[in-house]
Amino acid sequence: MAKYIFVTGGVVSSLGKGIATASIGLLLKSRGMKVTLQKFDPYINVDPGTMSPFQHGEVFVTEDGAETDLDLGHYERFINENLTRNHNLTTGQIYNSVIEKERKGVFLGGTIQVVPHITNEIKDRIRKFANSVDVIITEIGGTVGDIESLPFLEAARQMQIEEGRNNVIYIHLTLVPFIETSLEYKTKPTQHSVKELQSLGIQPDIILCRTKLPLPQDSKDKIALFCNVPKQAVIEAIDVADIYEVPLLFAKQGLDRLIVNLLHIKNIVPKPKLVNWENYIYKSKHPEVKIPIGICGKYAKLRDSYKSVIEATYHAATNLNVKADLHWIESETVNSDCVKEKLAGLAGIIIPGGFGVRGIEGKIATIEYFRKNKIPFLGLCIGLQCAVIEFARDECGMAEANSTEFNPKTKYPVIYLLPAQRGKRKKGGTMRLGKYPTSIKKNTIAYECYEKSIIWERHRHRYEVNNRFISVLQKHGLVVSGIYEKDKLVEIIELKNHPFFLATQFHPEFTSRPLRPNPLFTGFVKAVKAYAQKSNLYT
Ligand code: GLN
Repeated sequence: MAKYIFVTGGVVSSLGKGIATASIGLLLKSRGMKVTLQKFDPYINVDPGTMSPFQHGEVFVTEDGAETDLDLGHYERFINENLTRNHNLTTGQIYNSVIEKERKGVFLGGTIQVVPHITNEIKDRIRKFANSVDVIITEIGGTVGDIESLPFLEAARQMQIEEGRNNVIYIHLTLVPFIETSLEYKTKPTQHSVKELQSLGIQPDIILCRTKLPLPQDSKDKIALFCNVPKQAVIEAIDVADIYEVPLLFAKQGLDRLIVNLLHIKNIVPKPKLVNWENYIYKSKHPEVKIPIGICGKYAKLRDSYKSVIEATYHAATNLNVKADLHWIESETVNSDCVKEKLAGLAGIIIPGGFGVRGIEGKIATIEYFRKNKIPFLGLCIGLQCAVIEFARDECGMAEANSTEFNPKTKYPVIYLLPAQRGKRKKGGTMRLGKYPTSIKKNTIAYECYEKSIIWERHRHRYEVNNRFISVLQKHGLVVSGIYEKDKLVEIIELKNHPFFLATQFHPEFTSRPLRPNPLFTGFVKAVKAYAQKSNLYT
């Protein structure tokens, strides 16, 4: 019989609920349980695929091509498992499916209501995993008190009645602010948010307290008393430099023991087995050197938009015993006049994915600088497209080369719309999405990194390299080292006589895990380390 854990958040958003949820997942998995993690997002969009990065941050793409919340990236990285579209649900999806059923007459003339129809649909989506795992951990997005999240909380409340107290628990993450002027911790916001939860019929079993500094015992005792939980159920979630340390800090406070006891789970590994994880944290805290890597994109101020790219870079660096010192470059501020002044001192650059023409010329100028100065470059999706445009313009005599995304009338459309995308009007889930195989050519950087002829990576794009220009690009030295055989699409390009110049149409960042970094990121960071050493750029 499956056990259920619901994770809610109180006081403010952005407390790291996704990381707390992922950490709980890892702890239970490390005690031998089969777990899965699921996120409910209360907004009405069907998925975040159509939302601006300003609103939402990164869109994480699953293997099966779902465009999901960035917390799914944390889940995959912590529990080291591939998730699917069933692991991220939104209010939009729930209502869509209930309305579809109503139109088909499934409800036999009944009046369709939030309770029970919407809440039943939510519970069905949770129970979908009941036969395949031991524990289902469901994170409810938003903050308790939001109007939108009410049906999800109501469904979570009903679950305990239906499944029994020993099978369903609630974990609430709140903020305990430290007031500098009076040098005091304040527990009142936590008390209020727990009261709000209680008024909905949910009594949290465990309270995770996000704090800046260690939480004194008297504050913990006060939270326990006012929030109606035992003292040992108040757990500190202190700010950490490396998010992967969170499970270790929770384990130290006995969080896994608490959960196992509350859920009456028997016959399991007595302690979390996390030796490799601990080694990773040790390495991350004791790097041999620091190397400066630039990330040049349109949303340089919005770090959440590049979450998986940042994490993938850190995974590769940590495993190579170095610290990636990330420098953010807003692509719109770069042009050929200032490129040197802006980018000198970097030992490598990443151009991550993106959409639209804004900042494109800055990315192209950046790539030219790294190509000509033989400094490591890794391009991802739009990064590949910009690298092809730059190469066509500068090396192949096509000064007006462009992508039809940026200039529909360009004389040399070296990047153009995928044939399968033509005529598509509907937005949302209509790009080339999810995993596809790439065949890799021997004796290339890509092959050296992957050491395999076929690899699978995840995609999210509408445009591609125009095969009409391939022979001229190749004639001038561009190497196409990976293709999607079936439709003959360019997947990887690179250059010879350069320490590391490689770009991919797919997004390798989505498959990187702390203990299993993506091979292209490892190859890139190795090259950056070598370049930094040679050029005295250790920081
Ligand atoms: N805008 C480009 C396309 O649609 C690149 C997408 C991306 O970088 N994810 O093909």
